[in-house]
Amino acid sequence: MEHKKINIAVDGFSSCGKSTVAKGLAKHLGYIYIDSGAMYRAVALHALRKGWITETGMDKEALQQHIGDIAITFKTNNKGEQETFLNGENVEREIRTLKVANGASRVSTLGFVRHELVRQQQLMGKEKGVVMDGRDIGTVVFPDAELKLFLTASPEVRARRRFDEMTAKGEDPLFEEVLANVKERDLRDTSRTESPLRKADDALELDNSHIGIDEQLQWAMDMYHKITATT
Ligand code: C5P
Repeated sequence: MEHKKINIAVDGFSSCGKSTVAKGLAKHLGYIYIDSGAMYRAVALHALRKGWITETGMDKEALQQHIGDIAITFKTNNKGEQETFLNGENVEREIRTLKVANGASRVSTLGFVRHELVRQQQLMGKEKGVVMDGRDIGTVVFPDAELKLFLTASPEVRARRRFDEMTAKGEDPLFEEVLANVKERDLRDTSRTESPLRKADDALELDNSHIGIDEQLQWAMDMYHKITATT
């Protein structure tokens, strides 16, 4: 039976496999996948390039004044993978560095940045049929999402996954540094005053520290079938 399209929110801490589950769900269901973290990363990259984020501070006024100049779009490449564009430039690789991740975690504490990105994300979900992953999707972006998933895993497991990903890409990270980065971002994500990371009351939670990708995806699909059987 063809089900009515719904929106699916996938939230959780950094590097806990949200995007793998969200992309898998979107592929199975023929839905659009949106990586909201990539949008915060693109804003951070722009700010870093302009010199608005430095080791010691952030020029919030400049960023606020120019936030309207930042256009973020997504395109699917010929391998079927989604890539992020900043003002028309493909920045997919550049936004995945630790430096940009840190910048993203910093710009995402700013109310005006969140406000603008949430507005764009809500527009993307207007027609339904979207799987979006992030931190505030079930709580702020799509509080009415029919299905909300919340993934968790221990910081060590998440740092190991990120470390392996980076090594596979030919980078040479230090495990301790990756772990420190995961913990630092957790702290910032949960303690910021603007939309801190928290599980929505109606989200379904899965600790995937010791669960493989296929099992997680099966769980997510089971949850989808359960929800759509009753809506
Ligand atoms: O998910 P990802 O690690 O790519 O996100 C980058 C940063 O953007 C996170 O550390 C988080 O602080 C922020 N973020 C957010 N809200 C979202 C998605 C990401 O604050 N919906």
